[in-house]
Amino acid sequence: MSVKNVLDLIKEKGIEWVDFRFVDLLGKAHHISLPACEVEEETFENGVAFDGSSIQGFRGIEESDMVMMPDTESVYVDPFTAHPTLIVMCNIHTPDGERYERDPRSIAHKAEEFLQTAGVGTTAFFAPESEFFIFDDVRYESSMNTSFYSVDSEEGAWNTSRKEEGGNLGFKIGVKGGYVPVQPVDSQQDIRSEMCKLLQEAGLRIERHHHEVATAGQAEINFRFDTLTKTADNLMKYKYIVHNTARQYGKVATFMPKPLFGDNGSGMHVHQSIFDGDTPLFFDKNGYANLSEMAMHYIGGILYHAPALIALTNPSTNSFKRLVPGYEAPVNLVFSKGNRSAAVRIPVAAVTPKGCRIEFRTPDSTANPYLAFAAMLMAGLDGIKKKIDPRELGYGPLDKNIYELSDADKSEIRSVPGTLEEALDALEADHEFLLQGEVFTKDFIANYVDIKRGEAKAVAIRIHPHEYSLYFGC
Ligand code: GLU
Ligand code: MG
Ligand code: MG
Repeated sequence: MSVKNVLDLIKEKGIEWVDFRFVDLLGKAHHISLPACEVEEETFENGVAFDGSSIQGFRGIEESDMVMMPDTESVYVDPFTAHPTLIVMCNIHTPDGERYERDPRSIAHKAEEFLQTAGVGTTAFFAPESEFFIFDDVRYESSMNTSFYSVDSEEGAWNTSRKEEGGNLGFKIGVKGGYVPVQPVDSQQDIRSEMCKLLQEAGLRIERHHHEVATAGQAEINFRFDTLTKTADNLMKYKYIVHNTARQYGKVATFMPKPLFGDNGSGMHVHQSIFDGDTPLFFDKNGYANLSEMAMHYIGGILYHAPALIALTNPSTNSFKRLVPGYEAPVNLVFSKGNRSAAVRIPVAAVTPKGCRIEFRTPDSTANPYLAFAAMLMAGLDGIKKKIDPRELGYGPLDKNIYELSDADKSEIRSVPGTLEEALDALEADHEFLLQGEVFTKDFIANYVDIKRGEAKAVAIRIHPHEYSLYFGC
């Protein structure tokens, strides 16, 4: 869309405010609104200034001036404001007009530009499956005090004495019992449909929605794949609309990877493939699960770099509470067709050559999507460049339920890092693949690791509720 088209749209839709947005290092959106009557061609040329020193991980106070440069391709009408408002995603520039090297959206663009120079096709496609929970606001608060912690075994059996609020609980979903039941067991059909309607109006192509496996209102909405930066923009839009629709219904949505101990967590599996123009490069009808050698090497890159990659795809202390056995989340670094316990799954049901893709199941929605997608592409491209064969390095294929393997067989298999700190150690030790084409910089990695180590430390020094059951009576 040209600037003129945007200005026409503002008039046509009676827009009163234009909301300029950027995304910080942690994947959170920020915004500044300008009266639509003040927005003109120059606004798009000169950008909108903001104070970078007030954003965690950006600039110091002595060089705080930053500029949001609007991307006219990304506009959509905000469905939640009383005053008609147009949202525009922006890239971040320094005052002298350079791309800011810590701007996640610029990093995503650079990864796409790097693909162009790598001699590996023209376009990478991404499709995230971002799961989330919808809680009643009230239940959420009471859960914080009781049921979140009232689980009496490692395996996660719920404490049966758990107190319930409300009346008839006859249709209450049990632990791991939530996969696609019809109403009245599924009480969230309308709220998910409403989210989808708003997402469609905001430009997303919705493929489906459903109740997910966990007991308390776990949901998933799938939207159509797109190119890297566009998909990251779509995910930001998705989270914004999910959060705010839930709020309108008096509920709260969370993308936290493991809000409930003892039940399934929320992942963000990411489907990925590379095309050369119209030609899918991951398909070969003679390969394992119809995968080409190139796709195999892409998987090799993802699995080989996974411990480091996970610092960007699973960047919270809570992420590692999801990556445990028994809840459809991957723990082991192997690939497999169909198998949901593998870190890389190759979907085989109803797949056409163009739909041939790999699914990396480790990520979750605490990831900053611009950084996570860029990092996955860089890992995959490194695998292609170095012809990393996952079969030779012991990453599978493994077409069995990995959770049920004997200990001897399991000992052959590498695992995901157990904590955020371990993932950060891995990223410090292995990040050359991210620096290619200056997509990520050393400064970026050091700054990112610093911030994330701070988060891990802040959690570690706090007293955990479970410590009371273990130690209070001593
Ligand atoms: N919720 C599971 C996870 O944490 C995934 C369930 C599914 O296969 O969709 O990854
Ligand atoms: Mg799912
Ligand atoms: Mg999936």
